[in-house]
Amino acid sequence: MTPSSNTELPSTLPLTITHASCADDYDPNSMPVAKARQFINTFLTPVTGVARVALRSALGRVLAADIISPVNVPAHRNSAMDGWAMRFDDFQIGPTTLTEIGTSFAGQPFGHSIGKNECVRIFTGGVVPDGADTIVMQERTQANGKSITFFEGQKLGQNLREAGEDLQAGAIALAKGRLVRSAELGLIASLGIGEVSVYRPLRVAFFSTGDELVQIGNPLAEGQIYDSNRYTLHGMLTRIGCEVIDMGVVRDDPAILENAFIDASKIADAVITSGGVSVGEADYVKGLLQKLGEVVFWKIAMKPGRPLAYGKIGNAHFFGLPGNPVSVMVTFYQFVRDALLILQGVSPLPAQPLLKAVCTSPIKKMPGRTEFQRGVLYLEDGVFKVRVTGEQGSGILKSMSDANCFITLHDHVGNVEAGATVDVQILEGVI
Ligand code: AMP
Ligand code: MG
Repeated sequence: MTPSSNTELPSTLPLTITHASCADDYDPNSMPVAKARQFINTFLTPVTGVARVALRSALGRVLAADIISPVNVPAHRNSAMDGWAMRFDDFQIGPTTLTEIGTSFAGQPFGHSIGKNECVRIFTGGVVPDGADTIVMQERTQANGKSITFFEGQKLGQNLREAGEDLQAGAIALAKGRLVRSAELGLIASLGIGEVSVYRPLRVAFFSTGDELVQIGNPLAEGQIYDSNRYTLHGMLTRIGCEVIDMGVVRDDPAILENAFIDASKIADAVITSGGVSVGEADYVKGLLQKLGEVVFWKIAMKPGRPLAYGKIGNAHFFGLPGNPVSVMVTFYQFVRDALLILQGVSPLPAQPLLKAVCTSPIKKMPGRTEFQRGVLYLEDGVFKVRVTGEQGSGILKSMSDANCFITLHDHVGNVEAGATVDVQILEGVI
């Protein structure tokens, strides 16, 4: 497999796993999170399939063409306030009294121009009559029949929205690559556009591997567990607009696994598996994938989620995630989510800022790897604070469920004292 740039990256990678130790401690040969992400990015080319859809159906999809505004927004010069419209030149020093000659409602313009010492009653959104250049809000006036007195201190052009102030006709309202959320639906509707071009959804097939896994609805024998990873994956993939193809649990049997990989790669743009990439199991999955495609196996310098595989099987992108339920979620958010958004045509990727928060409890941490502790971020006395969600084992899904953020402890960071400032990655709106 040859990346389109940064060619020195992959050549040494396939070797690292064979030298990896199972121990979950610092290993100088492991792959930094940022480098693995950068490597994956070099292989990502967005889908090209496009569909025209009714505006509402574009929610959660990605624009495949610029939305060009066919109109000025706002279409007319209009009032931002309930009040009166007049000529600024008519104001004198001190209060000024003008004569009201008509009314402009939203959607029902006055229809004439105004002259010297005249004013027009106007409501929010009402078209500003020709000749008027200033709006005074009604709280700054005193009306006596049609004689309206305006207080001192008005400014030329105040409370008036110019035609095309938000958007000029012919300008790009939303660029290709934009994810359509509620605000975009409204913005597109405000332009009178009822149909848009969006990229086709990404088809993502996934399956779990492991002989110990049991599907819901069946009793557990000793040593067996219910398969939960397919449910978190279903959620995480659906949340970002993917078409999911759930292929169930696949036994740790080379012939069955091989068929599953082949089938998945034929029907999907991306294939995600969980389990089977840890050091004990990797050799045999590795052999299989080397036969079917080009896949690199990494030992990532992170916790949780150390083993990870990425590559191509045919035209499909392949992400081999670890089996532990929390590791699946953490590696999905650190490596897979952005990759799938890019494949869906999202550009630029929405920013996911790191916030600074005061950590209320000490955290043991070894430098040399990035740790993603599950945290609860809260505001206390105007300061963002964060606490860990309790037991942080990579099999404890409750730590993820209770969390609203990751406490992201970077490679160079060591033990964290209570009261120290840490980076947090917000999960609300993301998971
Ligand atoms: P593996 O990476 O296959 O060695 O799995 C690591 C751990 O995660 C083992 O304890 C597995 O039982 C568990 N595990 C693997 N797949 C799943 C799954 N789909 N649902 C829940 N736990 C799993
Ligand atoms: Mg397994």
